[in-house]
This record gives sequence, C-alpha cells and structure tokens, in this order.
Amino acid sequence: MVAKKTEIAKRASDVLRLLKREYPVAICELTHESAFQLLAATILSAQCTDVRVNMVTPALFDAYPTPAKLAVADLSHVEQLVRSTGFYQTKAKNLIGMASQVMSRFGGEVPREIEDLTSLPGVGRKTANVLRSVVFGLPGLPVDTHVGRLSRRIGLTKLEDPVKVEYELNAMLPPAEWGEFSLRLILHGRRVCDARKPRCEECLLEALCPSSELPTKKRVAKPTRKVVVKKPAGKVAAKKRVAKTTKARKK
Ligand code: SF4
Repeated sequence: MVAKKTEIAKRASDVLRLLKREYPVAICELTHESAFQLLAATILSAQCTDVRVNMVTPALFDAYPTPAKLAVADLSHVEQLVRSTGFYQTKAKNLIGMASQVMSRFGGEVPREIEDLTSLPGVGRKTANVLRSVVFGLPGLPVDTHVGRLSRRIGLTKLEDPVKVEYELNAMLPPAEWGEFSLRLILHGRRVCDARKPRCEECLLEALCPSSELPTKKRVAKPTRKVVVKKPAGKVAAKKRVAKTTKARKK
C-alpha cells in the first residue's frame, strides 16, 4: 500500500514536470482585470465554456465595473447580459448576491480566505481556488471536469468527488505548484486528452498513463502470439530446390 502511494506520488511529480515543459506559460483563459472580474467570470463559467464567458463579460463589466455597482443592479438586466451562459437566472442572482456581500461583509474587497470566499453566493471550492491561485498567488488547486477526468485517467486518483480529488492531489504536490498544475491539466484536457476521444498518440504523458489507448510498449516488445515471418515464396522454393539437389548428390 505504501509502495503504491509512493509510486503514485512519483507519477504526480513526473506529470508536473512534463506538463511544465509542454505548457511553460500556464494562464487562466477567463478574461479579467481584477479579482472582482475574475470572481464574476468564474461564477459564469459553471456549465459553460470560457470562450462563451469571455463573449459576455465585456458588456457585463462595462455596465457594472465594481462590486458597488453590481450590488444594486437590476436583476432582469443582469439576466439579459448573461443569458447565453446558461442557468442565467441563478447566475444573475448569484452575481448580485456576491457583489452585495462583498460590499456589506468585506468592505468592497474580494476576500482571500477559502472559508470567506465559499461563503459568497455561487462560490464553491473550485471558484475559491481559482481566485486564490490566479489573482492572489496563494495555494489553491481548482478541480473542474478536466482536472478530475485527467487525474483519474493518469491514475493519480480513483475518486469522483472534486473536493476529495483536490485533497489527494494537494498531498502529492508542492503548494506553490497547485494552481498552475490545475491550469496545465485543463490546457492538456482541452488540447490533447479530450473527454470522448483522447489523442494518446500525441500525448506527452503516454508512457506513464495507465489509460493510454495505444498498445503498451510491453505488448509491442513481447507479442503474445508467435510472429511467423513469411519469406518470399520464390526464395523458399529456391532453397528447397538447392537442398534437394545437395541430398541427391550425396546419394
Ligand atoms: S495517454 Fe491518452 S488517456 Fe492518457 S493522458 Fe494522454 S491522452 Fe489522456
């Protein structure tokens, strides 16, 4: 059991090293200029792509550039602005609620502590960790669908619950790497390890990934069936003729 844990921890640090080499610049793909903007954008990104969120936020931030303005916004106007991100009624309500609590409880400043962040409407652990790692430079490993899927495929965890996955990964990686490890896994999930069709043939993690869909090196090196190398028919016939002639001469 201990050996197994050590093996997984070693794999985690190999994955970290390889991903750092492949994606030297790990960036958050949600457009933002402040903690408040990233918080709003991350709330909108639930069940929605970053590309779609980035299409919506310029108008939202033009209309409501600060928590003070968003806190007193008209709900139907915010709904209209965020409609295309899906679940727009809940998201609009959460955005106004978040801004209102940032004003009333935190003096207009987005808090840094995970307990404070997760006490805001629409803010779960994933969003809180995005804020902590991307804006505040604090340890935080957001586990979204990409991070969960890749961690399971690579064999770093067997768990499904994102919070439990976060704790497992945290235990294997240095805190300073948590945020960027998550961002790099997300990039790799989007570019190579697709949910439906992973491109294992071009994956830099292929050699250490137990879910690779390519034949294993072991299988290639040691085929289970005996390989019969057929010689060209002409050569075989010629060889048989030579053997027959030699035999006849000996007689
Ligand atoms: S080898 Fe395949 S399954 Fe494993 S991480 Fe790479 S793309 Fe995903």
